[in-house]
Amino acid sequence: LLLAYDPARRLARVQVNIERALVNARMIYEILDTQPKQRDNAGAKPIRVTDGGVEFDKVRFSYKENVPVLRGVSFRAAAGKTTAIVGPSGAGKSTLFALLQRFYDPDSGVIRIDGQDIAGVTKQSLRQSIAYVSQHPYLFEGTIRDNIRYGRPDATDAEIEAAARLANAEEFILQQPQGYDTLIGENGVTLSGGQRQRISIARAIVRNAPILLLDEATSALDNESEAKVQQALDRVMDKRTTLVIAHRLSTVVNADHIVVLEDGLLVEEGTHEDLVRQDGLYARFYRMQTEKAHSLLEGGEQNSDETIPTEER
Ligand code: ADP
Ligand code: MG
Repeated sequence: LLLAYDPARRLARVQVNIERALVNARMIYEILDTQPKQRDNAGAKPIRVTDGGVEFDKVRFSYKENVPVLRGVSFRAAAGKTTAIVGPSGAGKSTLFALLQRFYDPDSGVIRIDGQDIAGVTKQSLRQSIAYVSQHPYLFEGTIRDNIRYGRPDATDAEIEAAARLANAEEFILQQPQGYDTLIGENGVTLSGGQRQRISIARAIVRNAPILLLDEATSALDNESEAKVQQALDRVMDKRTTLVIAHRLSTVVNADHIVVLEDGLLVEEGTHEDLVRQDGLYARFYRMQTEKAHSLLEGGEQNSDETIPTEER
């Protein structure tokens, strides 16, 4: 409690929240294609997604000159399969997602979707092929229905409701005072972390894009929410090419392919069994996680499905 009143700490928190808000706003604008003019490269064509296979080919990137963040990363995320990306904080995982959506372009190297260099396609068509579920679901003030419709502005009410059902969100939505028309945000109801995540999954479902980018939440939910969120994610991941920045052991172990990133380099890749056998960084990470999981179980600790404070929206 004392820590909460430490001014430096408070300031740091505000700073982080502002940055996050800006990133979210930018991603949302871009996704909604509300920016006046998307600048595409000369001769850009709409992307043609057939299978949704993704390939990073010797990708180098830095935000600031002489501070390389990706130092030549190559891997494939197979069409229709789940590829987990793991690695320490700051390794460059989220940057891969930013480049794939073309919020930035690589300094060198190529990113391809179904063999097409994404630098040669229109940003609008590229982003329409991708659904992104962020670590911190962005919900705006408005009705629950509008928040789901964000995924695809022309979705019908029936499509929105079907998506909410698949996302395991309908039950709690119907318990709200005005159901789908309930206002959320400052002037409306407050949703729990798990409920917010399910709204954002419903949004991804209505978007119905062949490629799903999932930045897994680090904050723990209570067991029931966790199971409902996981089931919803399994449904949206099914048959889609999924790239998931994974923090949970079960996601990693169940992935079709695992890519291990460290300091901007791909240091290992393979299946869970492959990587445990290699006994490298992944194997160490896995042992640490299982020990943590065990001590949590033994301690009988329970994480609450905490409500995320408004400033994080
Ligand atoms: P991860 O997701 O693996 O934690 P990130 O891709 O977010 O890593 O970040 C990789 C590196 O790039 C970090 O050193 C981070 O500080 C830096 N970085 C991330 N985003 C930006 C940005 N918008 N501007 C400058 N540096 C950034
Ligand atoms: Mg990240």
